[in-house]
Amino acid sequence: GSLTVGELAEKLNKDSSELIKKLMFLGVMATKNEDLEKETIELIAEDYGVEVEEEIEIDELGIETQVEEDDPAKLEERPPVVTIMGHVDHGKTTLLDSIRHTKVTAGEAGGITQHIGAYQVREDGKKITFLDTPGHAAFTTMRARGAQVTDITILVVAADDGVMPQTKEAINHAKAAEVPIIVAVNKMDKEGANPDRVMQELTEFELVPEAWGGDTIYVNVSALKGDGIDELLEMILLVAEVEELKANPDKRARGTVVEAELDKGRGPVATLLVQEGTMKVGDPIVVGNTYGKIRAMVNDLGKREKSAGPSTPVEITGLNGVPNAGDQFVIFGDEKKARQFGEARANRAREQERSQTSKVSIDDLFDQIQEGDVKEINVIVKADVQGSVEAVKGSLEKIDVEGVKINIIHAGAGAIAESDVILASASNALIIGFNVRPDANAKRTAETEKVDIRLHRVIYDAIEEIESAMKGMLDPEY
Ligand code: GDP
Repeated sequence: GSLTVGELAEKLNKDSSELIKKLMFLGVMATKNEDLEKETIELIAEDYGVEVEEEIEIDELGIETQVEEDDPAKLEERPPVVTIMGHVDHGKTTLLDSIRHTKVTAGEAGGITQHIGAYQVREDGKKITFLDTPGHAAFTTMRARGAQVTDITILVVAADDGVMPQTKEAINHAKAAEVPIIVAVNKMDKEGANPDRVMQELTEFELVPEAWGGDTIYVNVSALKGDGIDELLEMILLVAEVEELKANPDKRARGTVVEAELDKGRGPVATLLVQEGTMKVGDPIVVGNTYGKIRAMVNDLGKREKSAGPSTPVEITGLNGVPNAGDQFVIFGDEKKARQFGEARANRAREQERSQTSKVSIDDLFDQIQEGDVKEINVIVKADVQGSVEAVKGSLEKIDVEGVKINIIHAGAGAIAESDVILASASNALIIGFNVRPDANAKRTAETEKVDIRLHRVIYDAIEEIESAMKGMLDPEY
């Protein structure tokens, strides 16, 4: 059967107007009562995370099928995904290194550990996945993007230091996400180690140890010496068992980006954590606002893989752009659909970006100045040759508009680089480029950081543009 825009909106629990807008990004102009093609319905549904399986009748597509119930018979145990949190210097990095070192290199001969943002170890024949970015920055960025990847949090507390501000923050994050906490009391090898004090202090946060009638697991460790690591891993498996972590490996994969970057030789690379299903080389994929076809898959030991199942982190290549940590990915049935869908998402993202204003944009400098009473414009000047740099600089400095000052924070010859953009972003500056362009990295960062880059071929144009913006900045004279 077929659906109209209005009917589909109702099934998805969305406004028709929202759907109509979405359709426009897909290049489909439709009114509320228009019938939609099956392909289009699938695209829309997928955008809302509703998977329309080939065998599912379109008519059945509803909010009920969004939480697509997996056949319980197909659910299999999956490794827990663990994040390590705690106060700075309490030993998070050392613990991650120690676990990896004692468990990975010893067991898997020939493996050269690769930093891909996550790794897996084996304990008692079972796997545990660790997110390799200590601290709650990673945890919160992912949560902010709606991704829930962590199953268990290890709260590291130094036995000689006790509960500190970031310890409390970590507890709050874990509790907000309803993720179980295991406490690793670290630095037990040190003189002043006082694990009782740590337990006492944490009791205030409802982390009551089992010994005192509570249900929080405490493990004493020395990340530095490797003491207690096995026990910690065993406790992780115990909690995982209680949590009954399961996933269906027998379907198209879905999951979250752990980290991503642009590699000079390989193009965009992204570490993906598969959360359900199995991902294979060659699969068409949409990741955040990027898409592609998985060209190669490498695990945390630098080994090429052909497929990756639930809770497995792999680094992939083959995307048309660099996604963000915390972005979701979905494997598609066919390539054309993935591209169509990826492009639609990219368009939408661009559209959203356009509606946001940059930090310092020449177009709204006037308004910004009026509201914020800013009397200074920070500017970075880049030009093709040093002579032009001096000429542009000299002319800018000569602009004489009462009450407003131009502050050239950096000037140099050469293309506009990412470092220029980062500097501009940090100091709320505009970038003026004379006979130069931003390189790809600079462009991308400028887009995300909302840095205004003005490119000119004639010095006069560059100066005039700034001058008129500045004139608009003046307080009215009475
Ligand atoms: P992070 O900021 O939480 O990642 O902490 P680090 O792992 O960087 O550790 C901070 C400092 O504590 C480093 O100098 C480590 O060598 C040290 N450290 C970490 N774990 C232990 C431990 O178990 N015993 C001792 N004595 N020092 C440790």
